[in-house]
Amino acid sequence: MSQDRLPPPSLEACLVRLRPSSQKGGTIIAEDVTDRATHDRRICNPDGYRPAFCPNCGDRTLHVHDYRERVLRAEPEEPFARVVRHECVGCDAIWQILPAFIARHLWRTWRVVEHTLSGAGPPPAMLTTRRWPRVPDRTQRRWRRRGLRPARFLAQILATCGAGAWAALAGVLAAEATCADLVAAYDGARATLAGQLFAAVAALVYRLQPKVRLV
Ligand SMILES: [Zn+2]
Repeated sequence: MSQDRLPPPSLEACLVRLRPSSQKGGTIIAEDVTDRATHDRRICNPDGYRPAFCPNCGDRTLHVHDYRERVLRAEPEEPFARVVRHECVGCDAIWQILPAFIARHLWRTWRVVEHTLSGAGPPPAMLTTRRWPRVPDRTQRRWRRRGLRPARFLAQILATCGAGAWAALAGVLAAEATCADLVAAYDGARATLAGQLFAAVAALVYRLQPKVRLV
């Protein structure tokens, strides 16, 4: 078979994970934690991120399992964040609780992704003497390519999730809309603070379909 008859490289295979994970547990996004200051407060408190129940078995007793350091590349402030994992006493599942502002798979905060993709200046809170580190060109191109992939699947998830607001959001998207269009439509539908737009859309996508990534 000649090279050009092969299917296109599965660039986006990592963006959709349809096989179930063999591990119990996983990641819970703390959607209400959209900034670093809130995270720093919550992470110091053993109850700060304790899930109300185990998403796997429903047990209401979860203990702090451990804390892990998360590297945050190109971050203008602290280049790491401590995140907590809780263990369920009912089924031993281990849940990592990730604040919404950290991009689950990208070693970055969503603020950095948003800043890079929008080409905008830093949000007002960042107008300090701190410099905004540069994201490598290759990484930027990869993110832009992902933004240009069709939003059809995500639109379908929104349209069928049972929430009128999200169905309406899917409804404004043209058939050929891209994921970047979806992010823009979300911003149009509900004004989002600068630096928190991608975090909000990614958290929504994860809540509705954890197997699909936004970027
Ligand atoms: Zn459990």
